[in-house]
Amino acid sequence: MLKVAVLYPDLLGTYGDGGNAAVLAGRARARGIDLEVEEVTIGAKIPSASLYLLGGGEDGPQRLACDLLSEGGLIDRFNEGANVFAVCAGLQILGTSFSIEGDASYPGLGFVAATTTRGLSRSVGDFVTDVQGRMMVGFENHGGVTVLGEGVSALGDVVMGRGNDGRVDGFRAPRLIATYAHGPVLAQNPWLADELLSEITGQELAPWSSVADRLYSERCALLSTRRSDAGHIGG
Ligand code: GLN
Repeated sequence: MLKVAVLYPDLLGTYGDGGNAAVLAGRARARGIDLEVEEVTIGAKIPSASLYLLGGGEDGPQRLACDLLSEGGLIDRFNEGANVFAVCAGLQILGTSFSIEGDASYPGLGFVAATTTRGLSRSVGDFVTDVQGRMMVGFENHGGVTVLGEGVSALGDVVMGRGNDGRVDGFRAPRLIATYAHGPVLAQNPWLADELLSEITGQELAPWSSVADRLYSERCALLSTRRSDAGHIGG
């Protein structure tokens, strides 16, 4: 059976990102796919899983989660073929370094070259990213500004809000997606949940639509109205 492991929700669970696992389980069940969700809390061993989820959190717990993840062998699991989906603090942890209390720099897990320093102000509010022509909607709340190293691909271009640096959001590599979007982001963007499920099952999924899909369409329609109004106002 496929397994999704939610890593340290007791540290990285401040922003409701654990809901991403519930969305994956629900959308898998609707297609007749067996998918087990395991929450890995402090002190537990990181199990073998098809997909690991990391959420957002405050600076202190983020540092502790980073320590536990480096000892727990997440990078080995990833190198063996597992997928990783990370949000906000999770994104920062996967990079080369991130800033913590007092602006000190702390080493990340180094999955990709991405450096996070403290921004001049906190980025808080509704957040939209264009991911290869598809809108990803969510909410951001972070103090960090992330700069990607040469050759690292962003997940998408920021349409509203700030993301990494006001221009792009997150990063993407084979079997790895990271974003600043909370929401939980997979509840707000069912297409992204299905993309992850497709990746871990190795199958194209049967079409399925829920209230979440309808709400997503409504958000996109609202967004395009807002954008065309803004274009009109701007001349
Ligand atoms: N502690 C990090 C920051 O403020 C991440 C916050 C979050 O996960 N929402 O930048």
